[in-house]
Amino acid sequence: MTVLEGKSVYGGIAIGKIEILVKEDRTVKRSTVEDPEAEKERFTLAKEAAKKQLQELYDKALKEVGEANAMIFDVHQMMLDDLDYIESITNMIESQNVNAEFAVATTGDNFSQMFASMEDAYMKERAADVKDISNRVIAILQGREDDALHSQEPVILVAEDLAPSETVQLDKSRVLSFVTRLGSTNSHTAILARTMNIPALIGIAFTEEINGKMAVVDGFAGKLIIEPEEDVLKEYQARKEEEEKKKKLLLELKGKENVTLDGKRIQLYANIGGVSDVANVLTNDAGGIGLFRSEFLYLESDTYPTEEEQFKAYKTVAETMAGKKVIIRTLDIGADKQADYFELGQEENPAMGYRAIRICLERPEIFKTQLRAIYRASHYGTIGIMFPMIISVSEVKRIKEIVQEVKESLDEQGIPYGEVELGVMIETPAAVMISDLLASEVDFFSIGTNDLTQYTLAIDRQNAKLEAFYDSHHEALMRMIKMVVDNGHREGCWVGICGELGADTELTETFLRMGVDELSVTPSMVLKVRDAIRRVDLSKA
Ligand code: PEP
Ligand code: MG
Repeated sequence: MTVLEGKSVYGGIAIGKIEILVKEDRTVKRSTVEDPEAEKERFTLAKEAAKKQLQELYDKALKEVGEANAMIFDVHQMMLDDLDYIESITNMIESQNVNAEFAVATTGDNFSQMFASMEDAYMKERAADVKDISNRVIAILQGREDDALHSQEPVILVAEDLAPSETVQLDKSRVLSFVTRLGSTNSHTAILARTMNIPALIGIAFTEEINGKMAVVDGFAGKLIIEPEEDVLKEYQARKEEEEKKKKLLLELKGKENVTLDGKRIQLYANIGGVSDVANVLTNDAGGIGLFRSEFLYLESDTYPTEEEQFKAYKTVAETMAGKKVIIRTLDIGADKQADYFELGQEENPAMGYRAIRICLERPEIFKTQLRAIYRASHYGTIGIMFPMIISVSEVKRIKEIVQEVKESLDEQGIPYGEVELGVMIETPAAVMISDLLASEVDFFSIGTNDLTQYTLAIDRQNAKLEAFYDSHHEALMRMIKMVVDNGHREGCWVGICGELGADTELTETFLRMGVDELSVTPSMVLKVRDAIRRVDLSKA
């Protein structure tokens, strides 16, 4: 038994085999092809190779597990020959001059969503199959043998570090826990672990030998226990069961109000990174989406996502939330979230560099495309927009002019859109200090405590060495939040918190006392925060 100590970024217990992530580029990126005919041929060859693989799997399964269990590989072969599926891919290659990988991935997603929305249980199940066959074809097109994760069993994923662009591609149903050598409490891997509700550790100095070994992740004590002794394993199994019981108890809070013992209500929303997180929002009974990190749509692509692609994503989210509020944060690219095609270049100090609204205001064509997509989607639900990294009133005035231009062009084209609330993220000390002025420009504030802490305490949120100095309860931050709430309320703005601090239940009462109107937290934290709200009694001093 070996115990490696690090730092926990999300609690919980995981028990399973370790897999060290071998990095390879698995992104399905969109690119333009010169010769669509040749690209269609590439697709046909890959499809045939996939069918061959499936036939081999069928033969093997027939021998080992019998015909009933082997059938699925037969079904998959038939699906690969489905004319609608093939036509959708070849049409896309032909009409949009895109690469085969992208056409297969997009068609796979569309078909899978279509199946998922069907009433018939058998058809519903086909959603996963169409994804599966598409992934098989993509792997062949990319010359990959198999997935980034080799094991079919869920594993404890160990890596040097995980960039947001890598985590977006992982098959998350196969990850029990994230363990990295680098990374920090507020890195996006940590945020992802919280979203997935699985334990995560950083600062673990591992060696290659641990690959494949049985281990326990103690997300409470920040430990990775490799090849645990019998009694240690037993103890952790018992603790894991306890944890599961606690989670079940929280489920009883579904459908209950976010109200204190003395009757004060607060909105409790959830944060998402993409369409696939919405199911989590609903399962955890959040009242809306308080932060949709739209940049993940850009990170998944190798070129600017089109208006149509974005529209579809925002519309799906708005429709799925069925009238509940969805606040989309406009593109926050730069700093730790890099996409090559933006060609942002190297910077000495990217966190304080060319990022977020700065890029959008200098490159209005990108910004307008996104705003058009969001406004068009607003016709299908209740959408709000907020802008990241604001430091001045003039930025907000310029944004509003651009928004006006977008609305006018939609009016001219007769394209409908709904009422859209506009807000700013308060995540720079400058925005805090001028929050009285900003308040008269917008409908709401959403405090991004992750960046606000970074800029206020002058602590790079990505730098693992500074963990000891990162005091998320620092009095400076508490005063800032109070100031923003008061300034917002004076001008009739509602004020929320969408940074990680919103989910810190040690502060729930403080936020309620300050008059915070909304907390937007990772979906897995909604019920825990609801529980904390329902225990507060503001009538007691
Ligand atoms: C924040 O800074 O608190 C925030 C919510 O935005 P992000 O974590 O995406 O930078
Ligand atoms: Mg931020």
